[in-house]
Amino acid sequence: MTIDTPLPDKSKIDDDGFYYRLADCPDPIRISKQINESGARRYKGFNTFYDASSFVRMNSHLSLHETTRCGEGGIQRVFMDVDAKEKDFGHIPPHQLNKACAMLIASAYEVLHRSGVNAPDHIELVSHRQDKFSKHVVFPDAYIDANHYKCFYKELSQTFAFDLDGEEMPPELVKIIDEGVYDTRHNLRLHTSFKFGSNVRLEKRDHRTGEVEKDGIFDPNTMVTYIPNERDRAPLIYKCPDGCKGQTKKEYAVDATDDHMKIAEQILSQMKDEGITIARMEKPFIRLNVDHSKPCPVWQEARS
Ligand SMILES: [Zn+2]
Repeated sequence: MTIDTPLPDKSKIDDDGFYYRLADCPDPIRISKQINESGARRYKGFNTFYDASSFVRMNSHLSLHETTRCGEGGIQRVFMDVDAKEKDFGHIPPHQLNKACAMLIASAYEVLHRSGVNAPDHIELVSHRQDKFSKHVVFPDAYIDANHYKCFYKELSQTFAFDLDGEEMPPELVKIIDEGVYDTRHNLRLHTSFKFGSNVRLEKRDHRTGEVEKDGIFDPNTMVTYIPNERDRAPLIYKCPDGCKGQTKKEYAVDATDDHMKIAEQILSQMKDEGITIARMEKPFIRLNVDHSKPCPVWQEARS
């Protein structure tokens, strides 16, 4: 007979308190730390923006990202990643790229407005590099069911292509919208954080004056995570024009709502000390990780 020697819990956490696996981190806000050039990460969870903000502000030397919850139920803020690499857009002068980016943001307001979401403002984050035009745009008051991001992208790219045509701008500029960020569990670099291996921070750009803030203080409004009980008014949510049910949603006979899933997630998040964590949530299923080295919370003895 062989007996498994359980690994001590410490083996799951590094010296900065980050978990090796996202699945061990069920909290509503997930922040990842990039640890090498090839993009390997470790994860840390927070329950409130206050806790997450304090951590980000105290760890400005790390390359920190927010891990989005796309496809895991619920809503998050509308955001866009605008990217133009020299090798793809070298033939387009910088002033035209800037104009295209401003037009894209206007197109996004247009799409949101059509959906009944009147976003009063947006935040621009930039990270200046010679070979790349890169901008991250967040609408702090506009939300989206993450399952409909592909629909938002489709409507946005169509609107933007139409607007580019109207201004007689090169049609290939429609590709400055990065579609890849709307996949599940995307890591978005956090405001004030470094790109791994570089000394360039992601900073706010005042879109009225064009001035880029230097050594700014982390602003939690630049994050896309939504926490219901931290907001006192109903969020403005984008709706697809064709009324689709979301690209990744499946129909099940079980009548579980997003609220049920949130309650289940909250209850399960309190069971971490018992060695029970959420591996994956896909309505109406929740897959759990069970640490068998811990005693069973009901029987108070080792699980068999
Ligand atoms: Zn949709």
